[in-house]
Amino acid sequence: SPPFDVNLIKQDFPILQERVNGRPLIWLDNAATTQKPKPVIARISYFYEHENSNIHRAAHELAARATDAYEEAREKVRQFLNAGSTNEIVFVRGATEAINLVAKSWGEQNLQAGDEIIVSHLEHHANIVPWQQLAAKKGVKLRVIPVDDDGQILLDEYTNLLNHRTRLVSFTQVSNALGTVTPARQIIERAHQAGARVLVDGAQSVSHMRVDLRSLNPDWFVFSGHKIFGPTGIGVLYGKEDLLNETQPWQGGGNMIKDVTFEHTQYHNAPSRFEAGTGNIADAVGLGAALDYVSKLGIDLINQYEHYLLVYATRLLKEVPGLRLVGTAPDKASVLSFTLNGYSNDEVGQALNQEGIAVRTGHHCAQPILRRFGLESTVRPSLAFYNTCSDVDALVSTLHRLSGNRQKK
Ligand code: PMP
Repeated sequence: SPPFDVNLIKQDFPILQERVNGRPLIWLDNAATTQKPKPVIARISYFYEHENSNIHRAAHELAARATDAYEEAREKVRQFLNAGSTNEIVFVRGATEAINLVAKSWGEQNLQAGDEIIVSHLEHHANIVPWQQLAAKKGVKLRVIPVDDDGQILLDEYTNLLNHRTRLVSFTQVSNALGTVTPARQIIERAHQAGARVLVDGAQSVSHMRVDLRSLNPDWFVFSGHKIFGPTGIGVLYGKEDLLNETQPWQGGGNMIKDVTFEHTQYHNAPSRFEAGTGNIADAVGLGAALDYVSKLGIDLINQYEHYLLVYATRLLKEVPGLRLVGTAPDKASVLSFTLNGYSNDEVGQALNQEGIAVRTGHHCAQPILRRFGLESTVRPSLAFYNTCSDVDALVSTLHRLSGNRQKK
């Protein structure tokens, strides 16, 4: 049973009091984006009411307040991920921008024709397209770790792909389409043994499980604020300090320089090196508040509770006649993907919306993995700590009704 009072937690999220089609909103689209608790909304308002200024550049009081708030948020991210230093935490727009940053800077500077990049079959398009663009530009080869019929990474096949030409392994810690948790530690260790760098896409993992970067030891780790109860438009690139400082920045401008003449520019070290121009200061501060909120609940308790919900939902979904679950790995986080016989995924999504239930339908920006299962799209409910068994019951009862109507047809 819940390790915290979920009904009390729901009250922290104003949007969860909304009604949709005359019903209380049931938000089961957490893998697309999460809702924001009052402390996050309040923190952003507080920033604009009491602290707003550009950072780092002025002598006045508000510049100091804004700078302090922004740098405090960076320290909260460092702590949350257990990174070694705030110099390793670069604020970006989101996971997509973070991956593009690494591809366009480190990738373009270090990779050459004949080099190889490995991704997994589970990847979101954000962790495929930037590498494909780099591959086309540099003559680099993109190789893919296959998955089994449950949607699990095939580790032996992965090991066979590694060789002296492998320069980078870039993979997701949790699949956004199937929920599979990947064996990150083994993937990273084996990549490092082969002399390759590793990027971990944490967009779907940080809100569901403890991430300890000092123990996991990737070279880069990326996530988006909006998927962990923070604002849109803010995200994080973690990179090892030496590696970041060896890499030339991809964007130039204010904030990121030590000295500029018309002949030459000297860059700051990380993180400023990669934060050209005025960043998303208020939302970085909001992200800090979101991480505080999650830490207060406790990420391990969240993980336990969501696991319990996932097991409950999986059991009930399997009982719906004609429902095909895709992604049946034993180690999963909070994502369920399915199709229902006799209905398009859109029809299922619409029927759920009629009941106030929000789920994603479509390809989830992960077409290759859906096609691995012969599908172009699925219905994808995804859970967070503010969901309950009764949310799941509402989902399942609508699906039973649809399933029953089909049989009558
Ligand atoms: N990777 C994964 C695994 C994701 O689920 C997402 C978002 N769906 C992204 C990357 C991209 O995140 P964003 O759109 O916030 O940049």
